[in-house]
Amino acid sequence: MTRFVAGYCASGPVDPSYLDLAEQVGTGIAARGWGLVWGGGNTSMMGALARATRRGGGPTVGVIPKALMAAEHADAAADELLVTDTMRERKRLMDERADAFLALPGGLGTLEELFEVWTSGYLGMHDRPVVLLDPTGHYDGLLSWLRSMPAGFVSQRGLDHLVITRDAQTALQACAPRA
Ligand code: AMP
Repeated sequence: MTRFVAGYCASGPVDPSYLDLAEQVGTGIAARGWGLVWGGGNTSMMGALARATRRGGGPTVGVIPKALMAAEHADAAADELLVTDTMRERKRLMDERADAFLALPGGLGTLEELFEVWTSGYLGMHDRPVVLLDPTGHYDGLLSWLRSMPAGFVSQRGLDHLVITRDAQTALQACAPRA
């Protein structure tokens, strides 16, 4: 069975260097014989990630709420495009299809998705890898804030549950099945 990585990243206009990063990750997913499940949009990093995965021969499964099909340019080239009535349904289907979760630089939507799989993972509700690829320090402020909270708010175990790396190959390796 093909291994699917859920990719979370920006949907808005960003510097082209971030599109290159998304492309590198998509290429790496396909090179490993894996597939991508993502938000189904064709814009920004989300689009670059999906196109690069397909270009490399990897299957892409997009999951998009009906109401966002125009705004996020639903990707007609997806191997499967699942259209949902709600955001909750989108997240449920993405979760069902994913064998690992990989977040790249992104905004509010990316953060929301990352935090859900990160928290449910550290609470023991799933045991799939949750990985943050951050070559530019996009998340440094957030991570240092989380690490600096007074005792009792964010546990070390919770922090340790997220694999954080600046290197794309390391991030992909962390998405592989555990030995
Ligand atoms: P952003 O990081 O804000 O550019 O958004 C990246 C993706 O996250 C887009 O496909 C958004 O539709 C999606 N997104 C936004 N809000 C949510 C949410 N509450 N739950 C899941 N995905 C979301």
